[in-house]
Amino acid sequence: SPERFGVRLTDGFAHDFPDLGVPWKAADVPEPRLLALNEPLADELGLDPDYLRGDEGLRLLTGTHVPSGATPVAQAYAGHQFGGYSPRLGDGRALLMGELPDGRDLHLKGSGRTPFARGGDGLAAVGPMLREYLISEAMYALGVPTTRALAVVGTGVTVNREQPLPGAVLARVASSHLRVGTFQFARSTGDVELVRRLADHAIARHHPQAVDAENPYLALFTAVLDAQASLVAQWMLVGFIHGVMNTDNTTISGETIDYGPCAFMEGFDPATVFSSIDTQGRYAYGNQPPIVQWNLARFAETLVPLIDDDENAAVETLTAALGTFPARYQEAWTAGMRTKLGLPAALGRPAGSGESAGPGELARSGESAGPGDEVVEPLLEELSRLLSATRVDYTSFFRALIPAAAGDTRPVRELVGELADGWLASWRALDPSAAVMAGVNPAYIPRNRLVEEALDAATAGDLEPFEELLVVVTDPYTELPGRERFASPAPPGSSPHVTFC
Ligand code: AMP
Ligand code: MG
Ligand code: MG
Repeated sequence: SPERFGVRLTDGFAHDFPDLGVPWKAADVPEPRLLALNEPLADELGLDPDYLRGDEGLRLLTGTHVPSGATPVAQAYAGHQFGGYSPRLGDGRALLMGELPDGRDLHLKGSGRTPFARGGDGLAAVGPMLREYLISEAMYALGVPTTRALAVVGTGVTVNREQPLPGAVLARVASSHLRVGTFQFARSTGDVELVRRLADHAIARHHPQAVDAENPYLALFTAVLDAQASLVAQWMLVGFIHGVMNTDNTTISGETIDYGPCAFMEGFDPATVFSSIDTQGRYAYGNQPPIVQWNLARFAETLVPLIDDDENAAVETLTAALGTFPARYQEAWTAGMRTKLGLPAALGRPAGSGESAGPGELARSGESAGPGDEVVEPLLEELSRLLSATRVDYTSFFRALIPAAAGDTRPVRELVGELADGWLASWRALDPSAAVMAGVNPAYIPRNRLVEEALDAATAGDLEPFEELLVVVTDPYTELPGRERFASPAPPGSSPHVTFC
């Protein structure tokens, strides 16, 4: 039976980068209990769900079974946290178990203290681990690059926070766990050859086209810049607020990582912040693009010795490359907004970044040329003013535009009254496609109050609300009767939503 095969893991990173990880063992798990298992992802990875549910599978998913060939490590990284540099962060409560046959990482969170734990207990509670599961899978369903959640296993260990909570381990899968902070750590050792090997590893793994460039390390930098510009554009397009965009939470692959105090914006407001620790609003919705650029500047600093023997020339080259960020971001965001509004890209102006799939696809079909930027840009500016003035629920508004494209403006009017009439007329004159819009404007996002309700119930032992919500947010475009409560924002007068790490 397939159960006997278990899971094959290799230890390429652990083997090649002994300076960037400490071989480590997970803490004992007295009572493993499966709380969530991502069967479609298991299938995609060639893992047998029945094996994962069994005794050895649960021990694998909590790190207490190590397949032969694997060398679990706690990875080292540095990072700027809220702008302040910490030279030694690393996996304080996490382990890289190894690489799966398709090259992706299998990684655990909540698996016990490591040499990077500092004052932490190395543990994670059921609520936050199910939260990462739910929101990362919702992001995946929305087409946003992200780490995936494979499973959450309850440990039977009590975790002491403000109150005693049930403990859990999250097993996640990522293209890699290379972070800007990994490069910062490598650079801080003073060993330039280590940075070069890390960059070569990142190129091979994530941006292989950079190998052929005249300056592969500059090409790596611009590839990461493009991936991150595109990523943050997608966050903005779905109203996602990461909440803790430290450089250790910024990936080289361009995947969203480390779902902590993240949440989706409801009423439109660029100043929206949910995280209790983000008192200055550094990581507010509207600040996310410039913060990504700031994090990329920290990445650029680590690459200086690889770019040119002449330090000044290297800095000049990287500064120029970094300066392309606002335009790259704007391009990705505008292309995405065109799609949200059902408007094809303008002919001869392929939008989106490089060869990546996505909104730019429309441009290359060559069949229906959309309105020019000189028409769309003022329309988007006017839309921004409308959203800001009304603070309308961001997700509901775009969903309500779908029938409006076909002439039924009642749902939009229910949201914003007559304020949108002028804008609607200009937009409808561009002949928007309701069919395109229906595939990119979700009906369902993880609504803050529903997430909290589901996690509270799960913490108390009832997984049903979590499972129900998961089904809906991983099928975000399919409007079905009975799902109405999943589509509505917090009722007016609700107290502001606050998230905790
Ligand atoms: P995060 O906020 O999850 O991105 O984590 C920031 C840093 O704190 C990372 O180095 C984590 O490994 C570490 N960390 C967070 N929570 C704990 C914990 N309970 N025990 C040990 N380390 C932790
Ligand atoms: Mg980690
Ligand atoms: Mg982190």
